[in-house]
Amino acid sequence: MPLSTTNDTTVAQQHWMGNFALFMMIAGALIFLGTTDDVLQNAYLNRSMIVTLLLVIGITTFIISRSHIASKYQSHLLSIMLLIVPIISINLLPYAAVTAWASCFLFLMIALISYNRIVMWYTIVVVLATNLFIMFNTTTTMVEIDSSDHVARLGMVTIGICIALIINHLHIRNLSQLHSLANQLDEAAKRDPQTELLNLRGLEDFFDDANRQDLLLVGIHLENYYELARYFGEDIQARVLFECIERLQSLLPPYLALVRIEGGTIGVVMEKPEGVSCHDEMELLSQKMSAPYQIDLHQIYVNLYIVIDDGDTLQKSWMKRVQQVNSALQESVQNDKKVMCIDQTWRCEQTLRVEAARALSLAEVNRDFYLVYQLQYDSNQQTFVGLEALVRWKTELSKANQPSVFIPIAEKSDLIIRLGEWIFEEGCKTRKRLIGLVPENFTVSVNVSPRQLTNESFMPFIERMLLKYSLKPQQIKIEITESQSLDFESQPILRALRRIKTLDFPVSLDDFGTGHASYHVLERLLPLRQLKIPKQFIEQIEESAKRQSILESIFQLTRSMNVECIVEGVETGEEVRIAKDIGIHLFQGYFFAKPVSLTDIILLLESKNKEAME
Ligand code: C2E
Ligand code: MG
Ligand code: MG
Repeated sequence: MPLSTTNDTTVAQQHWMGNFALFMMIAGALIFLGTTDDVLQNAYLNRSMIVTLLLVIGITTFIISRSHIASKYQSHLLSIMLLIVPIISINLLPYAAVTAWASCFLFLMIALISYNRIVMWYTIVVVLATNLFIMFNTTTTMVEIDSSDHVARLGMVTIGICIALIINHLHIRNLSQLHSLANQLDEAAKRDPQTELLNLRGLEDFFDDANRQDLLLVGIHLENYYELARYFGEDIQARVLFECIERLQSLLPPYLALVRIEGGTIGVVMEKPEGVSCHDEMELLSQKMSAPYQIDLHQIYVNLYIVIDDGDTLQKSWMKRVQQVNSALQESVQNDKKVMCIDQTWRCEQTLRVEAARALSLAEVNRDFYLVYQLQYDSNQQTFVGLEALVRWKTELSKANQPSVFIPIAEKSDLIIRLGEWIFEEGCKTRKRLIGLVPENFTVSVNVSPRQLTNESFMPFIERMLLKYSLKPQQIKIEITESQSLDFESQPILRALRRIKTLDFPVSLDDFGTGHASYHVLERLLPLRQLKIPKQFIEQIEESAKRQSILESIFQLTRSMNVECIVEGVETGEEVRIAKDIGIHLFQGYFFAKPVSLTDIILLLESKNKEAME
């Protein structure tokens, strides 16, 4: 049991004694008020004085029990207060002999029940002293007592004391055993049972001053920890972990604590090294740690990621710091960044993501989102040939309203399914709204997240939408981002792609060249309608021959595959000129049109049509 709990027990006992004393004294006072005993009426302490005295003792004892005096002194004061009663009773011996004997036993019982050693010793002294006093003063008292009574009473008192002492001793011994057991359990709860390293609770307890921003927290993650159990069994997985920890202990600079954060993730707390680049040191550590582990006949390679949190932050608790290190580790695994430092920009982004995730969980698709549209231009036909629907979020978090912030968060939950369906339906409504304003083959492009593709209900949904708005599949282009999270080998995605192909939806591969689309992937997507070249390949192309040749080779690829090539993010006439020289004729970018509301798009298209008529 932690110390605080022991103190809680003592406090509860003191309270209990205070309550009991108050109750007893009030009861005693009431008895005295009601008594008709003549002897008492004639006593030199009259009834009202006794009643007042009892009430004063009761209330004072109660107040002492509730005070914040150290518990040891509180016990002394409580004993003195309680024992005033038998001591005063001795003065009133001729009138209150029974009180003098009985109260002693009563207090002995109180001390026994409350396990309080101090009260117990006080009681024993007063019990014996009172009884001896009575014994030696019987001749002078008016109480008629047989002399053998004294011996019998003293004998009884002694037996009572012995029993009380034995019970009290046993009780206190049991209690202290329980306390030490509880302490052991408490200690065990702060350690990881497998490695005996500190766990998160232990970490918080170890550095009880939570805000130790002067300390570094380094997170070390074994990427393939869980696979080890699958491939080699749990025994080898555990041995690799132990060897890893051993290697860490020998390679790390002096550290303060090693913590097992979870599975194959270890945290190291250390002082900030002065004058040394922690990043370089950790890169060296990463290399040394990644050397293969020889377990029995197996040579096991471990992929290690390291995140350094230098604590230069307003984060209050270790728990929060560990959470941040964990998220950074996930990110570094995704981006394959072996050593990463958490800096202020990263922390701000993280905070924004957390706030956005919270706000998104309260968002309602129909109420809190809207679409803007960006026109796509064909320089051969010198006209707009399509538009892309881009979602926006009406939120008070000004930095989070861009899809680059909230879409990745929505993609982590089923919100993207609901949101994606809403976007798709709005796209269909828009295409229907444009009938008569644009040619038949004008397309509305809708971005579709990989998670939507893996959802069983997605394909039936888009088929329903086509029927509902009487559209042809060729009028809605599905933009699939070439992101790392899109696994073109997974069965649900392949199934969805096959269905998209069967229905003859034009598919555009967005942000081509930024993910890991191979020729194999392109083949899976065929007949692909379009490759979309992202902004980074076109911006400032005039200054980079390398970029020009990349753009040229992508264009050649699209020609040989017989798919359209559209460049997005074109902002200047120079960029357009170079792209045109290469042979590209499809564009999307601020140079031609910015993303605007549907009303603006309609106004623009209407005025273009009017111009063409004139
Ligand atoms: P994306 O599909 O590649 O969209 C193009 C992004 O480039 C858009 O940013 C657009 O506003 C921006 N852009 C277009 N022309 C220019 C230009 O000339 N200069 C600059 N600097 N930017 C330009 P946005 O709207 O912020 O969207 C970012 C990404 O968010 C999109 O990239 C797409 O991956 C995702 N996204 C947007 N809307 C949706 C949606 O409805 N559903 C899904 N799943 N993702 C969406
Ligand atoms: Mg797009
Ligand atoms: Mg794009």
